[in-house]
Amino acid sequence: MLTNAATDIKRPRLSDAAGVDELKSELVLANRILLRYVIVDAFGHVSVRHPHVPTRFLMARRVPPGLVGLDDVREFGLDGELIDRDGAPVYLERFIHSEIFAARPDIQAVVHSHSPNVVAFGVVPENRLRPICHTCGFLGDPTPVFEIRDVAGDATNLLISSPQLGRSLAKILGDESVVLMRGHGSTVVGSTLAQAVYRAIYTDTNCRIQAAANQLGIPKFLTPREAIAAEEGSMLQVERAWQLWKEEAAGLNATPSAGSHNAF
Ligand SMILES: [Zn+2]
Repeated sequence: MLTNAATDIKRPRLSDAAGVDELKSELVLANRILLRYVIVDAFGHVSVRHPHVPTRFLMARRVPPGLVGLDDVREFGLDGELIDRDGAPVYLERFIHSEIFAARPDIQAVVHSHSPNVVAFGVVPENRLRPICHTCGFLGDPTPVFEIRDVAGDATNLLISSPQLGRSLAKILGDESVVLMRGHGSTVVGSTLAQAVYRAIYTDTNCRIQAAANQLGIPKFLTPREAIAAEEGSMLQVERAWQLWKEEAAGLNATPSAGSHNAF
């Protein structure tokens, strides 16, 4: 005779809300993981497409990533506005998420951050970000850079504060996994929430390795075929890291694993 737990595993979910609640919990952990690995600080945000309504996505209302709780998660439409207009303050740059979800049906999650390691590679045209190690085959070669001056002139505050700017950013992202934003930050996408978080963390890692290698000499980057080969099977790596990071973020492991920020 099956226990309740075993029965639940075999039975399709009867309630859409159950799946949404589970994803909301993962989104809260994603915020904490990104904070823990210094990808976000007081600013930055992560979103995930609604599991049952692809024209909606889940993201926190306007609170710092480290303070996001389940009650802060809201549903947004592809216009970047709240589905339930409850008056909650929202992120100014929510159009990054809405326009990428609109442009990329293949994408399930988006991370936007201002990591200093990454910003540096968006401001030196002669030193573009390229995949340099086996965990970073997802990076474009070179990784595209969004130049807001090209679409909005040279007097903006650099933020993606309108649907039009979000569309322009999504266009430069194209079918890539990462787009740098000159003088601002980066936006990373994934086919799962775990993959988007993984890519955000390892984009930062690639930047630090590339910056260090530049001090030593002329780096050797991955060839296009090495990058493709490195990406094959990478979801297994993602899953392994995701399990660790979720446990750390949930407080089950009080300190980050030794060297885990740099661990391959
Ligand atoms: Zn930003």
